[in-house]
Amino acid sequence: MKRLCVLGSTGSIGVNTLDVAARHPDELCVVALTANRNIERLAEQCAAHRPTYAVVVDPEQRQPLREKLEARGVRGVEILAGASGLEHVASLPEVDTVMAAIVGAAGLLPTLAAAQKGKRVLLANKEALVMSGPLFMAAIRLSGAELLPIDSEHNAIFQCMPASYRAGTRAREVRKIMLTASGGPFLKAPLETLAHMTPEQAVAHPNWVMGRKISVDSATMMNKGLEVIEACLLFDLSPDEVTVVVHPQSVIHSMVDYVDGSVLAQMGNPDMRIPIAHAMGWPDRVESGAEPLDLFKVGRLEFVELDTQRFPCLPLAYQAVRAGGTAPAILNAANEMAVASFLDGRIRFTAIAETIRHCLDVLPASAVGSLDDVLDADRTTRHTASLYLEKASTA
Ligand code: NAD
Ligand code: MG
Repeated sequence: MKRLCVLGSTGSIGVNTLDVAARHPDELCVVALTANRNIERLAEQCAAHRPTYAVVVDPEQRQPLREKLEARGVRGVEILAGASGLEHVASLPEVDTVMAAIVGAAGLLPTLAAAQKGKRVLLANKEALVMSGPLFMAAIRLSGAELLPIDSEHNAIFQCMPASYRAGTRAREVRKIMLTASGGPFLKAPLETLAHMTPEQAVAHPNWVMGRKISVDSATMMNKGLEVIEACLLFDLSPDEVTVVVHPQSVIHSMVDYVDGSVLAQMGNPDMRIPIAHAMGWPDRVESGAEPLDLFKVGRLEFVELDTQRFPCLPLAYQAVRAGGTAPAILNAANEMAVASFLDGRIRFTAIAETIRHCLDVLPASAVGSLDDVLDADRTTRHTASLYLEKASTA
């Protein structure tokens, strides 16, 4: 029996995780669920999965959740709140598997706690890894935690690695890896229209249904930039060994290029339950609920080179990972701030990349010795970005 904590259970990955878990009631039991604002959905999830703990971010939401649980006749759920509640459930001795599915920097501390406690960490929250990089990977190594990537590209790479492969190590027979990118909603939009794209157009991803932040990241291609950094850390590769291939069908989820010239790819429908089920069941295979892949329906697979003029965020991510130290944390914080402003209708779509470039230009990257260095870089960048965003505001 695996005992599961889902950090961010009310989000897109969280919901898919619970869908997979519900298919395996004899092998999986849900111990803890957490949410930010969607208390209604959290209450429904508690009624369906009967966890021991539920965590809300805002302590004021404890009482409304308690009432919703009572109304549903759900008893015996201990309700915790705040950052300490998140870290507590990620560290529980009765939890062995933690799904890290909070979006953004808010997921760093509980995800790191799970890594330090030697859990099986199912990592969707790429921002946490990008920010804390070597510190996070050291925590995994030190505690002996199992790290399984949920991001579909990294999960695909993991699946194409030798059977004995473990995340954080370098597979010597690998020449490079190729991350596929759908290209998002603006792959073919005329360049001069990008500045006028609305949040609704940006979140309308052609192949995947995801949270709003990652959907905007997919439209700017910063999602792929964060994924390049994530891949360097997970697979111990240099940035030159990680390439990006635009593949609009999203059927091949990524590829490993071996020294003998063999290229291994993992394919499947674009359904996050596939990587989630892989990571939950690993090393076994379990049912995910995803539709079988119908290649005749797909018809053809295309591969296109990425246009960095259209997608300036990708070179910025390469710049940050090459600079090292706090640069990826600066990149991430600037992006989170800019995306939030764009989603609020305060800046143009094209100002997202400009904000990130500004922060990387004016804030010097420094070495990371401790978690405080990462948190300082995050804070400083948010301040610098907010000043820039005020000037860039169209509202
Ligand atoms: P989402 O917005 O749908 O869900 C986010 C979850 O985090 C929600 O449960 C929300 O309550 C919680 N949350 C938000 N802010 C919080 C805060 N300040 N403190 C605590 N909890 C908070 O996002 P998502 O699409 O599920 O993505 C989650 C993570 O998974 C992201 O890091 C994303 O990059 C990654 N990811 C998602 C997909 C996907 O298909 N959705 C694919 C690959 C990777
Ligand atoms: Mg991905």
